[in-house]
Amino acid sequence: MKISILIFGSDNFIARLPDQICDANSFNLEVITNLNQAISCIQTTPPDILILQASCDGSLELCHWLKEQTKLSWIYCILLEDRSQLLLDRSKYGRDWELEMTSIALQEGADAYIWQSPTELSSSQNLLLAQLTVALRKAQKYRDLIRTNDLLSAIALADSLTQLSNRRALEWDLPRQIQKARTNGTPLSLIILDVDYFKRVNDTYGHLVGDRLLQLLSNRLRQNLRYQDTPFRYGGEEFVIILSHTSCDEAVVVARRLNRIVSEQPFAINNQLSINLTISLGAACLRIEDDVNGISLLNRADQCLLQAKAAGRNCVMNCENYLSHHTSHLRVASS
Ligand code: GH3
Ligand code: MG
Ligand code: MG
Repeated sequence: MKISILIFGSDNFIARLPDQICDANSFNLEVITNLNQAISCIQTTPPDILILQASCDGSLELCHWLKEQTKLSWIYCILLEDRSQLLLDRSKYGRDWELEMTSIALQEGADAYIWQSPTELSSSQNLLLAQLTVALRKAQKYRDLIRTNDLLSAIALADSLTQLSNRRALEWDLPRQIQKARTNGTPLSLIILDVDYFKRVNDTYGHLVGDRLLQLLSNRLRQNLRYQDTPFRYGGEEFVIILSHTSCDEAVVVARRLNRIVSEQPFAINNQLSINLTISLGAACLRIEDDVNGISLLNRADQCLLQAKAAGRNCVMNCENYLSHHTSHLRVASS
């Protein structure tokens, strides 16, 4: 993708810029003369590089504002000084004064401050092109960093065995889902499920088969969820599903369905081996008194799961200790 440059300045100003900057083949160029328009453009489609005409009202404030925006402060901001009075003062007061003005511009948020005197246009243009090279280097580095960061975030939040979101992702997502449900006044439910007698599978067939079974189970769960249900691998052979816009009763329906789709069909490990599996599920829905992080909600669902295990496994229990389905033992079958 091409590097994008936003220029905030007048037509005259743009006419004095070197041709290399205004080359549409090299950059995505946007030219704006109005301060508010510039701000909204930066917010909606942040450019990689910003070039500002200092004599435009609000340009220094724009630099300052930009560097205070956490998500925009990486934009490389070049301030071109063309204010005639300042250019006159510069030649009158000398080098110290020029350095002082430069310091102020940099402190205010400019990444580069270039004097654009008409009498030395060619050297100031060369300096501008040199600064543009710096900006391009930084923009490219920043893009690489973002890409790596996105990749690392995806790795950090995904479970490598099942490709479901992991527990860290749950801890990040659940408080947000709770806040959203409370703000919008919509119901929110949560299911915790645990594979029954999974240790037996490992002990009978080995861990590799156990791993494969967890992958197949995850796929089956994922394929049978609604769009508003988000599954997570909580740890080991335990999974959590956040069900947004879902009441207690609806959560029980979803949990029952999952219970059924797991138990009614064996999991084919290979041509020789299929394994029957059951899961136990606990369902809970968000209450007013629940904490913002969802600890009490998770805990309530977990208590229901324990009850489901105690009731003989392969069943669903919810907050109201509602036993929806029950068959007693796991069948591990080879075919
Ligand atoms: P229960 O019905 O009470 O849940 O019995 P269980 O055997 O499923 O429960 P237990 O906690 O005794 O054993 C869970 C087993 O899950 C033990 C552990 O080795 C296995 N396990 C956890 N994570 C993995 C994994 O990533 N791969 C494999 N193959 N096994 C795992
Ligand atoms: Mg288990
Ligand atoms: Mg367990």
